[in-house]
Amino acid sequence: MVIDIHAHYPKGVPDFPERLVTLLPQAGIDKICLFSAGDCLGHVSNAEILEAARRHPKHIIPFALVELGKDGPECVDHYAAQGFRGFKITNPRSSYDSEEYFSIYERMERTGLPLLAHTGILMTFRPPPGVRVSSNWMRPICLDAVLRSFPGLNIIGAHLGVPWHEEASMMARVHRNFYVDLTGAWWGGWRVNKGPEFYRYHFFWKDAWDKVLFGTDILALNELIPAKQVHDKILADLKLPADVLEKVNGGTAARLLRL
Ligand SMILES: [Zn+2]
Repeated sequence: MVIDIHAHYPKGVPDFPERLVTLLPQAGIDKICLFSAGDCLGHVSNAEILEAARRHPKHIIPFALVELGKDGPECVDHYAAQGFRGFKITNPRSSYDSEEYFSIYERMERTGLPLLAHTGILMTFRPPPGVRVSSNWMRPICLDAVLRSFPGLNIIGAHLGVPWHEEASMMARVHRNFYVDLTGAWWGGWRVNKGPEFYRYHFFWKDAWDKVLFGTDILALNELIPAKQVHDKILADLKLPADVLEKVNGGTAARLLRL
């Protein structure tokens, strides 16, 4: 089973969920985890994500965006009760390891659902007046204290923490509950310019690829197929064994999602 762990639902695209589900078999993807990265990035609400998954329960797995610095811990239980199968965090108001967020992580751990965290540089947009945005608050190492405090909370760090790749891979090595995805812009993002040596350098230990999950990070429908092709080429160039490929492409995600 191939599971895309990281995909977005943009606003203003007519019949987006229906068209996405039609495209999945063409892309060679069985299930897709869909979530918002927030209104300021032009994404739909959590309610619309949930509705898409209700219409397409076999294919769409809904993750709830939890806005750190805005949402309270009670929203975690609320989203879990509504049927969300995972959480997403990005663009916090202060570092991911700010004490005020720990009650949220604690609730997330109790749900048993995975958390996908944006890690690394964040695309540029103008913050609303009085709101600060910093990629530094989303460095992989900012999740270190969270991973130690909540060993039952599985966190997937997106984009291998670009440009803090080694920080991300070392954390995947030492923390049992930390995973990464390799998402980046398919048309010219960071991963497109890396050869097999880059991946061998970062994932050198035994079973390192057990900590890597497939994702596309689509922001538009026409990105799905090329993003999957870029991912497939990276893995093909590495000549990984079939059982390892199976885990990266969906086996590990299925385990984290308890499918
Ligand atoms: Zn994303």
